[in-house]
Amino acid sequence: MQDTVRVNGIVLSAMPVGEADRRILLYTKELGRISCFVRGARKPTSPFVGKTRPFSFGRFDLYPGRDAMNLQAAEITEYFEPLASDPLLSAYGSCVLELTSRVGQENSDGTLLLTLVYYALLALMKQHMAPELTWTVFQAKVLEYEGLMPSFSACMKCGKPLKTGVFKPSYLGPLCLTCAPEGSEYPLSESTLYAFTFVRNEAPNRLFSFALSEAVFSEFRQVVRFLRGRMLSRSLSSEELLEVFQKQ
Ligand SMILES: [Zn+2]
Repeated sequence: MQDTVRVNGIVLSAMPVGEADRRILLYTKELGRISCFVRGARKPTSPFVGKTRPFSFGRFDLYPGRDAMNLQAAEITEYFEPLASDPLLSAYGSCVLELTSRVGQENSDGTLLLTLVYYALLALMKQHMAPELTWTVFQAKVLEYEGLMPSFSACMKCGKPLKTGVFKPSYLGPLCLTCAPEGSEYPLSESTLYAFTFVRNEAPNRLFSFALSEAVFSEFRQVVRFLRGRMLSRSLSSEELLEVFQKQ
């Protein structure tokens, strides 16, 4: 078909429509976020039954319909199957997908974010690092892609290189202990500063493979949560579900 568009991406969410159809939200390398209609996707005999579930990663052929794009064919290369069978990992994976649907733009190059999503889900699936750390590092990298992650190498007030410091919410970045002598609820140890610099410098394929002590992780996560709170106007429903699991 003349107008068919081939995209590489992942199914972020799927919603039933009518009796047997489905509307899916894709995040793609070529077009960023794109909504797509899948006729008959919920019929047991449909070739799209499994291919249009969240986490399905692969190639999708789309053609324009009257109101939306339609799915013509799909070839899935990774289902991230183990995520579906583990409720906790599935909850973390859903957080990754939901944040992607919130920050991903339509009609934009999705290469960076899609690559990050792929490696974050792979890390969750293969448990390369603690799931909570994977999720936090993913958010930190998204903040960087959105231009909301400051550099942690120098004090934002005096410009001196940082050994230790504090994160100052009013500066949206780190200050040295001379510039912020009164202390802060966001301390930054040397290891935490290093973790931020590591996440900033590394590509997604090398990002999800380290460990942090509990104290360093706590500092790291506190700052990521603060910055993310500024990026999103409302909380993620997947994260609320995750908190329920974590309390069990
Ligand atoms: Zn300073």
